[in-house]
Amino acid sequence: MPTDTHSAEYFSADYPEARQKFLDQAKRIGASLDHRLNPKAKGPDGGDLYTDVARIGPDNASKVLTIISGTHGNEGFCGSGCQVGYIANSLHEARADDTAIVFVHAINPYGFAHIRRVTEDNVDINRNFVDHSAPYPDNEAYHELHQYAVPDKWADGGREAADAKLKEYGETHGAMALQTAMSAGQYSHPHGIFFGGNAPTWSNETLRSIIDDHMADADHAALIDFHTGLGPNGHGELILNGDFHGSYARAQSWYNDEVTSFEDGTSTSAKLTGMICYAFLDVLSPEQLTGIAVEYGTYDVVTVLTAMRFDNWINLNEEPGSPLWIEGKKAIRDALYCDNDEWKQKVWDRAVWTLEQTYAGLATV
Ligand SMILES: [Zn+2]
Repeated sequence: MPTDTHSAEYFSADYPEARQKFLDQAKRIGASLDHRLNPKAKGPDGGDLYTDVARIGPDNASKVLTIISGTHGNEGFCGSGCQVGYIANSLHEARADDTAIVFVHAINPYGFAHIRRVTEDNVDINRNFVDHSAPYPDNEAYHELHQYAVPDKWADGGREAADAKLKEYGETHGAMALQTAMSAGQYSHPHGIFFGGNAPTWSNETLRSIIDDHMADADHAALIDFHTGLGPNGHGELILNGDFHGSYARAQSWYNDEVTSFEDGTSTSAKLTGMICYAFLDVLSPEQLTGIAVEYGTYDVVTVLTAMRFDNWINLNEEPGSPLWIEGKKAIRDALYCDNDEWKQKVWDRAVWTLEQTYAGLATV
Protein backbone atom coordinates (compact mmCIF):
# COMPACT_ATOMS: atom_id res chain seq x y z
CA MET A 1 0.00 0.00 0.00
CA PRO A 2 1.37 3.42 -0.89
CA THR A 3 1.60 5.71 2.14
CA ASP A 4 3.17 9.07 2.58
CA THR A 5 5.91 9.87 5.05
CA HIS A 6 4.20 12.72 6.86
CA SER A 7 3.06 10.44 9.61
CA ALA A 8 3.53 13.01 12.41
CA GLU A 9 0.68 15.06 10.91
CA TYR A 10 -1.89 12.39 11.78
CA PHE A 11 -1.24 12.78 15.48
CA SER A 12 -2.77 15.52 17.62
CA ALA A 13 -1.93 17.55 20.70
CA ASP A 14 -5.25 17.09 22.48
CA TYR A 15 -8.64 15.36 22.25
CA PRO A 16 -10.53 18.18 20.44
CA GLU A 17 -7.86 18.35 17.73
CA ALA A 18 -7.81 14.55 17.38
CA ARG A 19 -11.59 14.45 17.11
CA GLN A 20 -11.64 17.18 14.47
CA LYS A 21 -8.97 15.47 12.36
CA PHE A 22 -10.84 12.18 12.56
CA LEU A 23 -14.21 13.71 11.64
CA ASP A 24 -12.66 15.71 8.77
CA GLN A 25 -11.14 12.57 7.30
CA ALA A 26 -14.30 10.49 7.82
CA LYS A 27 -16.43 13.11 6.09
CA ARG A 28 -13.93 13.44 3.24
CA ILE A 29 -14.38 9.78 2.31
CA GLY A 30 -18.15 9.78 2.82
CA ALA A 31 -18.15 7.39 5.79
CA SER A 32 -21.41 7.06 7.68
CA LEU A 33 -20.97 8.82 11.02
CA ASP A 34 -22.50 8.31 14.40
CA HIS A 35 -21.68 10.49 17.40
CA ARG A 36 -22.19 9.05 20.87
CA LEU A 37 -22.35 11.77 23.52
CA ASN A 38 -21.02 10.81 26.94
CA PRO A 39 -23.66 12.32 29.24
CA LYS A 40 -21.63 11.62 32.37
CA ALA A 41 -18.63 13.88 31.83
CA LYS A 42 -17.31 17.04 30.20
CA GLY A 43 -13.87 17.93 28.92
CA PRO A 44 -11.42 20.06 30.91
CA ASP A 45 -12.60 23.02 28.79
CA GLY A 46 -16.26 22.24 29.64
CA GLY A 47 -16.85 20.86 26.14
CA ASP A 48 -18.90 17.79 25.25
CA LEU A 49 -17.19 14.44 24.95
CA TYR A 50 -18.02 12.00 22.19
CA THR A 51 -17.12 8.57 20.97
CA ASP A 52 -17.35 8.88 17.17
CA VAL A 53 -18.06 5.93 14.93
CA ALA A 54 -17.27 6.02 11.21
CA ARG A 55 -18.28 3.12 8.95
CA ILE A 56 -17.18 2.56 5.40
CA GLY A 57 -18.28 -0.39 3.28
CA PRO A 58 -21.48 -2.21 2.38
CA ASP A 59 -24.37 -2.38 4.87
CA ASN A 60 -24.58 -6.13 4.45
CA ALA A 61 -20.83 -6.79 4.72
CA SER A 62 -20.12 -10.36 5.80
CA LYS A 63 -16.82 -9.30 7.34
CA VAL A 64 -16.36 -6.35 9.66
CA LEU A 65 -13.07 -4.89 10.83
CA THR A 66 -13.32 -2.74 13.96
CA ILE A 67 -10.46 -0.35 14.73
CA ILE A 68 -10.55 1.24 18.19
CA SER A 69 -8.63 4.11 19.74
CA GLY A 70 -8.59 5.50 23.26
CA THR A 71 -9.67 2.41 25.20
CA HIS A 72 -7.19 3.66 27.74
CA GLY A 73 -7.97 7.36 27.44
CA ASN A 74 -4.78 9.17 26.56
CA GLU A 75 -3.32 6.12 24.84
CA GLY A 76 -5.67 7.51 22.18
CA PHE A 77 -3.02 10.03 21.11
CA CYS A 78 -1.41 7.05 19.41
CA GLY A 79 -4.51 5.17 18.24
CA SER A 80 -6.25 8.25 16.90
CA GLY A 81 -3.16 9.11 14.85
CA CYS A 82 -3.21 5.63 13.30
CA GLN A 83 -6.91 5.87 12.48
CA VAL A 84 -6.49 9.31 10.90
CA GLY A 85 -3.47 8.07 8.95
CA TYR A 86 -5.35 5.03 7.64
CA ILE A 87 -8.09 7.23 6.19
CA ALA A 88 -5.77 10.06 5.07
CA ASN A 89 -3.82 7.51 3.00
CA SER A 90 -7.06 5.94 1.72
CA LEU A 91 -5.98 2.56 3.07
CA HIS A 92 -9.67 1.74 3.65
CA GLU A 93 -9.92 1.41 -0.15
CA ALA A 94 -7.68 -1.65 -0.13
CA ARG A 95 -10.25 -3.70 1.82
CA ALA A 96 -12.21 -6.44 0.00
CA ASP A 97 -15.72 -5.79 -1.34
CA ASP A 98 -17.29 -8.02 1.30
CA THR A 99 -15.66 -6.08 4.16
CA ALA A 100 -16.75 -3.04 6.13
CA ILE A 101 -14.51 -1.06 8.47
CA VAL A 102 -15.89 0.47 11.66
CA PHE A 103 -13.58 3.09 13.15
CA VAL A 104 -14.38 3.70 16.83
CA HIS A 105 -12.65 6.94 17.82
CA ALA A 106 -12.07 7.60 21.54
CA ILE A 107 -14.15 4.89 23.19
CA ASN A 108 -13.08 6.52 26.46
CA PRO A 109 -13.32 10.22 25.56
CA TYR A 110 -13.12 11.39 29.19
CA GLY A 111 -9.73 9.76 29.64
CA PHE A 112 -8.45 11.05 26.31
CA ALA A 113 -9.58 14.63 27.03
CA HIS A 114 -8.39 14.67 30.65
CA ILE A 115 -5.13 12.79 29.94
CA ARG A 116 -6.14 9.85 32.09
CA ARG A 117 -5.99 6.16 31.32
CA VAL A 118 -9.31 5.52 33.06
CA THR A 119 -12.92 6.60 32.59
CA GLU A 120 -14.90 9.26 34.45
CA ASP A 121 -15.58 6.63 37.14
CA ASN A 122 -11.91 5.65 37.52
CA VAL A 123 -12.51 2.42 35.64
CA ASP A 124 -10.08 0.63 33.35
CA ILE A 125 -12.42 -0.36 30.49
CA ASN A 126 -10.15 -3.20 29.47
CA ARG A 127 -10.90 -4.82 32.87
CA ASN A 128 -14.62 -3.87 32.90
CA PHE A 129 -16.05 -6.62 30.66
CA VAL A 130 -16.67 -9.13 33.40
CA ASP A 131 -20.02 -10.55 34.52
CA HIS A 132 -20.99 -7.96 37.12
CA SER A 133 -23.73 -10.22 38.53
CA ALA A 134 -21.19 -12.91 39.43
CA PRO A 135 -18.49 -12.79 42.13
CA TYR A 136 -15.54 -10.74 40.88
CA PRO A 137 -12.15 -12.27 40.20
CA ASP A 138 -10.16 -11.81 43.38
CA ASN A 139 -6.81 -10.07 43.16
CA GLU A 140 -5.55 -10.77 46.68
CA ALA A 141 -2.11 -9.35 46.08
CA TYR A 142 -3.61 -5.99 45.19
CA HIS A 143 -5.31 -5.80 48.60
CA GLU A 144 -1.88 -5.96 50.17
CA LEU A 145 -0.27 -3.48 47.77
CA HIS A 146 -3.03 -0.87 47.39
CA GLN A 147 -1.65 1.24 50.27
CA TYR A 148 1.65 1.50 48.38
CA ALA A 149 0.14 1.88 44.90
CA VAL A 150 -1.84 4.86 46.21
CA PRO A 151 0.09 6.15 49.23
CA ASP A 152 -1.34 8.74 51.62
CA LYS A 153 1.44 11.12 50.75
CA TRP A 154 3.18 11.52 47.37
CA ALA A 155 5.62 14.39 47.92
CA ASP A 156 8.21 14.69 50.68
CA GLY A 157 9.36 11.08 50.51
CA GLY A 158 5.88 9.53 50.47
CA ARG A 159 6.30 8.03 47.04
CA GLU A 160 9.83 6.81 47.66
CA ALA A 161 8.71 4.96 50.81
CA ALA A 162 5.86 3.32 48.88
CA ASP A 163 8.19 2.50 45.97
CA ALA A 164 10.51 0.67 48.36
CA LYS A 165 7.65 -1.55 49.50
CA LEU A 166 6.64 -2.33 45.92
CA LYS A 167 10.23 -3.07 45.00
CA GLU A 168 10.51 -5.40 47.98
CA TYR A 169 7.39 -7.26 46.80
CA GLY A 170 8.91 -7.59 43.33
CA GLU A 171 12.16 -8.93 44.70
CA THR A 172 10.38 -11.48 46.88
CA HIS A 173 7.76 -12.65 44.39
CA GLY A 174 9.25 -11.72 41.01
CA ALA A 175 8.75 -8.77 38.66
CA MET A 176 5.84 -10.43 36.81
CA ALA A 177 4.06 -11.19 40.11
CA LEU A 178 4.28 -7.49 40.96
CA GLN A 179 3.06 -6.48 37.50
CA THR A 180 0.17 -8.97 37.78
CA ALA A 181 -0.82 -7.77 41.25
CA MET A 182 -0.91 -4.19 40.06
CA SER A 183 -2.26 -4.50 36.52
CA ALA A 184 -4.31 -7.70 36.20
CA GLY A 185 -7.43 -5.84 37.29
CA GLN A 186 -9.00 -5.39 40.72
CA TYR A 187 -12.63 -4.97 41.77
CA SER A 188 -12.22 -4.10 45.44
CA HIS A 189 -10.72 -0.59 45.55
CA PRO A 190 -12.73 1.98 43.53
CA HIS A 191 -10.08 4.64 44.10
CA GLY A 192 -7.23 2.32 43.22
CA ILE A 193 -5.37 1.68 40.00
CA PHE A 194 -6.51 -0.83 37.35
CA PHE A 195 -10.00 -0.78 38.92
CA GLY A 196 -12.33 -2.91 36.79
CA GLY A 197 -15.50 -1.26 38.08
CA ASN A 198 -18.52 -2.56 39.94
CA ALA A 199 -20.89 -1.99 37.01
CA PRO A 200 -20.60 -1.54 33.25
CA THR A 201 -19.25 1.92 32.47
CA TRP A 202 -20.73 4.24 29.85
CA SER A 203 -17.89 3.25 27.51
CA ASN A 204 -18.70 -0.42 28.06
CA GLU A 205 -22.39 0.08 27.21
CA THR A 206 -21.48 2.25 24.25
CA LEU A 207 -19.12 -0.33 22.79
CA ARG A 208 -21.76 -3.06 23.23
CA SER A 209 -24.27 -0.87 21.43
CA ILE A 210 -21.81 -0.23 18.57
CA ILE A 211 -21.20 -3.98 18.29
CA ASP A 212 -24.96 -4.64 18.19
CA ASP A 213 -25.36 -2.06 15.43
CA HIS A 214 -22.48 -3.26 13.27
CA MET A 215 -21.55 -6.84 14.08
CA ALA A 216 -24.79 -8.73 14.61
CA ASP A 217 -24.96 -10.11 11.07
CA ALA A 218 -21.23 -10.50 10.39
CA ASP A 219 -19.78 -13.91 9.59
CA HIS A 220 -16.37 -12.82 10.79
CA ALA A 221 -15.05 -9.89 12.79
CA ALA A 222 -11.52 -8.60 13.05
CA LEU A 223 -10.49 -6.26 15.83
CA ILE A 224 -7.51 -3.92 16.12
CA ASP A 225 -7.37 -2.07 19.45
CA PHE A 226 -4.50 0.41 19.81
CA HIS A 227 -2.64 0.65 23.11
CA THR A 228 0.60 2.08 24.46
CA GLY A 229 2.86 1.66 27.48
CA LEU A 230 4.22 -1.90 27.41
CA GLY A 231 7.28 -3.37 25.74
CA PRO A 232 10.34 -1.91 23.98
CA ASN A 233 10.11 1.73 22.84
CA GLY A 234 8.35 2.04 19.48
CA HIS A 235 7.78 -1.69 19.07
CA GLY A 236 4.20 -2.75 18.41
CA GLU A 237 3.51 -6.04 20.18
CA LEU A 238 0.44 -7.81 18.86
CA ILE A 239 -1.36 -9.26 21.87
CA LEU A 240 -4.21 -11.69 21.28
CA ASN A 241 -7.52 -9.97 21.96
CA GLY A 242 -9.88 -12.90 21.64
CA ASP A 243 -10.51 -16.43 22.81
CA PHE A 244 -7.23 -18.34 23.15
CA HIS A 245 -8.49 -21.72 21.91
CA GLY A 246 -10.81 -20.26 19.29
CA SER A 247 -8.46 -17.76 17.69
CA TYR A 248 -4.77 -17.93 18.68
CA ALA A 249 -3.69 -20.21 15.83
CA ARG A 250 -5.67 -18.20 13.30
CA ALA A 251 -4.27 -14.91 14.57
CA GLN A 252 -0.75 -16.31 14.25
CA SER A 253 -1.44 -17.25 10.65
CA TRP A 254 -2.69 -13.74 9.92
CA TYR A 255 0.17 -11.91 11.62
CA ASN A 256 3.30 -13.82 10.66
CA ASP A 257 3.46 -15.77 13.96
CA GLU A 258 4.13 -12.53 15.82
CA VAL A 259 1.09 -12.66 18.10
CA THR A 260 1.65 -13.06 21.83
CA SER A 261 -0.71 -14.12 24.59
CA PHE A 262 -0.58 -13.95 28.36
CA GLU A 263 -2.31 -17.35 28.30
CA ASP A 264 0.94 -19.03 27.26
CA GLY A 265 3.33 -16.52 28.83
CA THR A 266 4.60 -15.03 25.56
CA SER A 267 3.26 -11.52 26.19
CA THR A 268 4.78 -8.66 28.17
CA SER A 269 1.26 -8.21 29.56
CA ALA A 270 0.10 -9.76 32.80
CA LYS A 271 -2.90 -12.09 32.66
CA LEU A 272 -5.89 -9.75 32.57
CA THR A 273 -9.58 -10.03 33.44
CA GLY A 274 -12.50 -8.27 31.73
CA MET A 275 -10.91 -7.35 28.39
CA ILE A 276 -12.99 -5.63 25.72
CA CYS A 277 -12.93 -8.69 23.45
CA TYR A 278 -15.58 -10.22 25.72
CA ALA A 279 -18.07 -7.64 24.43
CA PHE A 280 -17.51 -9.08 20.95
CA LEU A 281 -17.58 -12.65 22.22
CA ASP A 282 -21.03 -12.10 23.72
CA VAL A 283 -22.30 -11.61 20.15
CA LEU A 284 -19.86 -13.73 18.12
CA SER A 285 -18.45 -17.22 18.60
CA PRO A 286 -14.72 -17.57 19.40
CA GLU A 287 -14.17 -18.77 15.82
CA GLN A 288 -15.80 -15.64 14.42
CA LEU A 289 -13.47 -13.14 16.08
CA THR A 290 -9.81 -12.52 15.25
CA GLY A 291 -8.69 -9.71 17.51
CA ILE A 292 -5.43 -8.14 18.54
CA ALA A 293 -4.31 -5.30 20.76
CA VAL A 294 -1.40 -3.44 19.20
CA GLU A 295 0.69 -2.48 22.22
CA TYR A 296 3.37 0.11 21.46
CA GLY A 297 6.23 0.43 23.92
CA THR A 298 7.08 3.78 25.45
CA TYR A 299 9.18 3.49 28.62
CA ASP A 300 10.01 0.75 31.11
CA VAL A 301 7.28 -0.83 33.23
CA VAL A 302 8.25 0.94 36.47
CA THR A 303 8.22 4.38 34.83
CA VAL A 304 4.83 3.76 33.25
CA LEU A 305 3.32 2.26 36.40
CA THR A 306 4.63 5.12 38.54
CA ALA A 307 3.03 7.62 36.18
CA MET A 308 -0.32 5.81 36.46
CA ARG A 309 -0.06 5.89 40.26
CA PHE A 310 0.88 9.57 40.14
CA ASP A 311 -2.13 10.41 37.97
CA ASN A 312 -4.39 8.41 40.27
CA TRP A 313 -2.96 10.23 43.27
CA ILE A 314 -3.35 13.77 41.94
CA ASN A 315 -6.90 12.98 40.85
CA LEU A 316 -7.73 12.06 44.43
CA ASN A 317 -5.71 14.68 46.25
CA GLU A 318 -4.87 17.73 44.15
CA GLU A 319 -6.75 20.57 42.51
CA PRO A 320 -6.24 20.87 38.73
CA GLY A 321 -3.47 23.36 38.09
CA SER A 322 -1.48 22.85 41.29
CA PRO A 323 2.26 22.29 40.78
CA LEU A 324 2.02 18.60 41.72
CA TRP A 325 -1.03 18.17 39.50
CA ILE A 326 0.82 19.67 36.53
CA GLU A 327 3.80 17.43 37.19
CA GLY A 328 1.60 14.32 37.42
CA LYS A 329 -0.32 15.20 34.27
CA LYS A 330 2.92 15.58 32.31
CA ALA A 331 4.12 12.24 33.67
CA ILE A 332 1.04 10.30 32.54
CA ARG A 333 0.96 12.03 29.15
CA ASP A 334 4.62 11.26 28.45
CA ALA A 335 4.42 7.72 29.84
CA LEU A 336 1.80 6.70 27.29
CA TYR A 337 2.80 8.79 24.28
CA CYS A 338 6.27 9.54 22.94
CA ASP A 339 5.66 12.87 21.30
CA ASN A 340 8.48 12.73 18.75
CA ASP A 341 8.57 12.05 15.01
CA GLU A 342 10.81 8.99 15.20
CA TRP A 343 8.46 7.14 17.55
CA LYS A 344 5.41 8.17 15.53
CA GLN A 345 7.00 6.88 12.32
CA LYS A 346 7.65 3.48 13.92
CA VAL A 347 4.08 3.41 15.21
CA TRP A 348 2.76 4.29 11.79
CA ASP A 349 4.88 1.74 9.89
CA ARG A 350 3.72 -1.04 12.21
CA ALA A 351 0.10 0.13 11.94
CA VAL A 352 0.24 -0.05 8.13
CA TRP A 353 1.76 -3.54 8.22
CA THR A 354 -0.87 -4.67 10.72
CA LEU A 355 -3.69 -3.45 8.48
CA GLU A 356 -2.20 -5.18 5.41
CA GLN A 357 -1.96 -8.45 7.34
CA THR A 358 -5.54 -8.04 8.57
CA TYR A 359 -6.86 -7.64 5.03
CA ALA A 360 -4.95 -10.71 3.89
CA GLY A 361 -6.20 -12.66 6.89
CA LEU A 362 -9.81 -11.67 6.36
CA ALA A 363 -9.55 -13.00 2.79
CA THR A 364 -8.89 -16.49 4.21
CA VAL A 365 -11.99 -16.77 6.39
ZN1 LIG B 1 -3.79 0.20 27.07
